[in-house]
Amino acid sequence: MTFADLNLHRNIQEAIKEEGYTNPTPIQEQAIPAVLEGYDLVGCAQTGTGKTAAFAIPILHYLHRIVGSPKKMKHIRTLVITPTRELAIQVCESFETYGKYTSVKPLVIFGGVNQVPQVNELKQGVDVLIATPGRLLDLHKQGFIDLNHLHHLVLDEADLMLDMGFINDVRKIIKLTPDNRQTLLFSATMPLEIRELADTFLTRPKYISV
Ligand code: AMP
Repeated sequence: MTFADLNLHRNIQEAIKEEGYTNPTPIQEQAIPAVLEGYDLVGCAQTGTGKTAAFAIPILHYLHRIVGSPKKMKHIRTLVITPTRELAIQVCESFETYGKYTSVKPLVIFGGVNQVPQVNELKQGVDVLIATPGRLLDLHKQGFIDLNHLHHLVLDEADLMLDMGFINDVRKIIKLTPDNRQTLLFSATMPLEIRELADTFLTRPKYISV
């Protein structure tokens, strides 16, 4: 299979081509069509398998259609929760890279730094928000984040969020999002708590393991 077989918008295909990728990795081959079809997804995959592009590419394909007009008001349509600031930054860079020929605006926020620049960026309008759990809840509580227009929720490295003690924050965040969202959960391992999280918050998900 090549990326051309996935029927992605040409602006996204062009960006993928510029990265030098011709063939999707196994997780991308399975996840991209499933996400495009609207399925909830549980992806059991380690870092290095191409899992970031496996969710960023189909989400960008979806967003490119709905945020096309520059005049259109921006709302947070995709929320990606990650356990660490480093991962959050990498995920944001992937959205920037694959979305460089779209008008999709990603933003990364994390704790441990002054919130003012992040709040100012949020006020400008953002389509994809990538966040660590604590800062997200904090800025939501202060009224700077509206999750009512969310289409896609991604929980990245869910097992690490469990190990780092963020699981209750993650539950709180999920409850702030609309019930009809599409939810994608990625985890390198599937401990009981993560399976329970998937059972509680995902709807008839497809399971992919690579
Ligand atoms: P990840 O598992 O998301 O951390 O990605 C691991 C690395 O694989 C990243 O450096 C990506 O740039 C790269 N990558 C992702 N998809 C592909 C692909 N289809 N072909 C070649 N490299 C890729």
